[in-house]
Amino acid sequence: MVSEFDELNAIYDRFAADSAPYRTEAACARGCAFCCTDAGRIDITTLEGLRIRRIMAGLLRNRRVALEKSLKQEFKKREAGLTVPCPFLMKNNACMIYEARPFACRRVYSLHRCSQARPPLLHRQVMQLGTEAVAALQRLDTHGYTGHISYILHMLDVPRFLETYLAGQFKPEEVMAFGKGHGIVINKRMVQP
Ligand code: SF4
Repeated sequence: MVSEFDELNAIYDRFAADSAPYRTEAACARGCAFCCTDAGRIDITTLEGLRIRRIMAGLLRNRRVALEKSLKQEFKKREAGLTVPCPFLMKNNACMIYEARPFACRRVYSLHRCSQARPPLLHRQVMQLGTEAVAALQRLDTHGYTGHISYILHMLDVPRFLETYLAGQFKPEEVMAFGKGHGIVINKRMVQP
């Protein structure tokens, strides 16, 4: 798994380097957390979720308990069709898992200041680079899944699913019932051979 996390970092680093020339035009300012509060879905792969789960396991107990509570609340609100701030966003608008934040957070910037009426605007070339990086992430996580962060973290909290995933086995039927209703996609079916 360590080498897979290294490969994950390599995909992040490649995207960061390739997109850097475009980002010089970004209007993003320090302290803005629009992407964490209003931009909608933060989709992650199971491998990204596993790394986040491991970081959560190392947090102080109080913080971990509070975070689990926020994740459950976010899950319920999302079930009700609401857009809610990311549970990892802290009161000072910093990200609690910044070093391990998923690719969905790394790919976004905006050429203008965002609002509900003006969602993030990216260069077309960076959109394409992001699509290629997502395909690479799904290839790397070939026996895993992609979906909204709270749903993937929920799946990784289910022992039966976690054991199957850690064993490198592929049993889509185990997540089929949950997956259909929550927009979970099977990475194997999404990536090009
Ligand atoms: S993981 Fe961090 S950067 Fe990503 S949406 Fe949540 S708070 Fe924001």
